[in-house]
Amino acid sequence: MVQRVGKRISAVAQLPDAQWEFVLFDDPKTANAFCLPGGKVGVYTGLLPICQGDGGMAAVVGHAVAHAVARHGAERVSEGLIVEMGGQFLGEAMKARPEMTQKIVMQSYGIGSQVGVQLPHSRKQELEADHLGLLYMARAGYNPQEAVEFWKRFSGAHAPQTGLIGKVNAYLSTHPVDADRIARLERLMPKAQEEYRNAGDR
Ligand SMILES: [Zn+2]
Repeated sequence: MVQRVGKRISAVAQLPDAQWEFVLFDDPKTANAFCLPGGKVGVYTGLLPICQGDGGMAAVVGHAVAHAVARHGAERVSEGLIVEMGGQFLGEAMKARPEMTQKIVMQSYGIGSQVGVQLPHSRKQELEADHLGLLYMARAGYNPQEAVEFWKRFSGAHAPQTGLIGKVNAYLSTHPVDADRIARLERLMPKAQEEYRNAGDR
């Protein structure tokens, strides 16, 4: 699912020199995803129950890729680490040198290793990624309304009744969901729906 959706999202995203790779990491306790500046996309299995299908996955991958296109991660990641990782495949790198790879991912996403505290993307960056990600999923032929449903489920999954609490805490700390965020997505919806209609049935 990650690769199927990733292929379609990457076909409409403007990330020059990207060497696209889409990897699913088996970690049901982590509801998170990321895209490194070089087009390496990682999704943790903890997000699957919240995605519920290709549309939800398109919202996740679209959002992650949008952060990379807008260079939100590159502002944080050190040049040295990117060079060290070079053209290695993410899946191989995680197996061969898990500590270094995790360090790169954490630095890209502003996770302070000394204190273990996650620094969220700024609110401005989150809204940019939401906006761009919504257009990407629409252009790739996924109904953008699925993004709204995804974020509603995501914020709902935080409630104790669902049993998903804890799993979403990590992602939630970097991706706060509030009514304003969903309202903004809904305001962008007419434009996104137009893109979705133009994309046709791919
Ligand atoms: Zn984000």
